[in-house]
Amino acid sequence: MGPADGPSKGVRVTVSRDGIGSRLAAVGRAHGTSAIPVNPPVVRASTFLFETLADFEEASRHPFDGAFYGRVGTPTTFAFEQAMAELEGGFRSIAASSGVAAISATLLAFLDKGDHVLVVDTVYDPVRRFCNRMLARLGIETTFYDPSLGADIADLVRPNTKLIYMESPGSGTLEVQDVQAIVAAAKAAGVRTAIDNTWATPLFFRPIEHGIDVSIHSGTKYIVGHSDAMLGVVTTNAETYDAVRRATQDLGACAGSEECNLGLRGLRTLEVRLARHSASALELAQWLEGHGQVKRVLHPALPSFPGHAFWKRDFCGASGLFSIELASRDPEAARTFIDALKMFRIGFSWGGYESLVLPMHPQKSRALPLWNECGPIVRLQIGLEDAADLKADLAQALEKLRPAV
Ligand SMILES: *Cc1c(COP(=O)(O)O)cnc(C)c1O
Repeated sequence: MGPADGPSKGVRVTVSRDGIGSRLAAVGRAHGTSAIPVNPPVVRASTFLFETLADFEEASRHPFDGAFYGRVGTPTTFAFEQAMAELEGGFRSIAASSGVAAISATLLAFLDKGDHVLVVDTVYDPVRRFCNRMLARLGIETTFYDPSLGADIADLVRPNTKLIYMESPGSGTLEVQDVQAIVAAAKAAGVRTAIDNTWATPLFFRPIEHGIDVSIHSGTKYIVGHSDAMLGVVTTNAETYDAVRRATQDLGACAGSEECNLGLRGLRTLEVRLARHSASALELAQWLEGHGQVKRVLHPALPSFPGHAFWKRDFCGASGLFSIELASRDPEAARTFIDALKMFRIGFSWGGYESLVLPMHPQKSRALPLWNECGPIVRLQIGLEDAADLKADLAQALEKLRPAV
């Protein structure tokens, strides 16, 4: 499969922001001195020592700006946070032990007993569980809203609504939200906004620039990029920083220095990796769209995709995760297809260099009945292998399916 079969007219594969490659090479590094290491050193420490009690007291007044105690941060975690804040265009970033830790801290930063939160129904499933279990136990009510809601989200806002939580594109089925309209409605109602920005990375979407208060990443995915560490990061604007920092501290789910180092290392190659993930994914998505065994391809960069216009307006690229709906109505079709794949391995997560596949079951988990009539949905994480090999693997696995009726 050569470039001739590749992405076609009018579809942007990846449009890097000016200078992003140069910035990725330098973010998080100390400025100004000579003989500094290329990479911020990995400082593994619970304890930092002080000469006098006055020094200790001074450090305790600025615990997030230097080194005070390991759970608060080490020079390595601060370097990663500084890099992410710069890339996201935010006030500050806060590293966490996982994406879910970053998300739960954000929710608890803004929500109190008796409050109400609006969460998009296409949210990552462990976050749905956090709302339904933990938040419910704390007396916080969640409404899961339709991802296609724009300005009409105002109708769901109650006097006790404190936060609108977005994830765009949504987990598994990739719905792109009308962020502009939602942010406008939230601001008009005095409600905070947060978004899970994992799919886009800071290269393809920068939520803070769109007026969202808090942008969250599972760093485990593209930022670490090699499926060998768990990491989360929250970036805030100036108004929300203190609340989110306090919540992450109260929960104690700090990121380790080794993990932050892997996050920093991942950032150096983020643009070049994403260019490949993006191009291969779009090439395969376009090919799958014409395949008889595939009913629909759920990829925001395809003009046929319902949320395409929002993606085109707000994003400057598409990463390598998308889903397909198989044409077959055989309940075993997804199993047959997935088990026949050889290069795509079965496993949680995505954003690493290796291709992965998983069945999605939106009809089982969602609060709204939007996916009840759908066929088998299969999610594909397109890795850095040769696109021609991935295509051949998909082709032979689709061959195993009976003709669609
Ligand atoms: C994986 C994932 C998370 C959770 O991140 P972990 O690092 O696994 O805790 C959150 N949001 C999305 C969209 C994800 O894919």
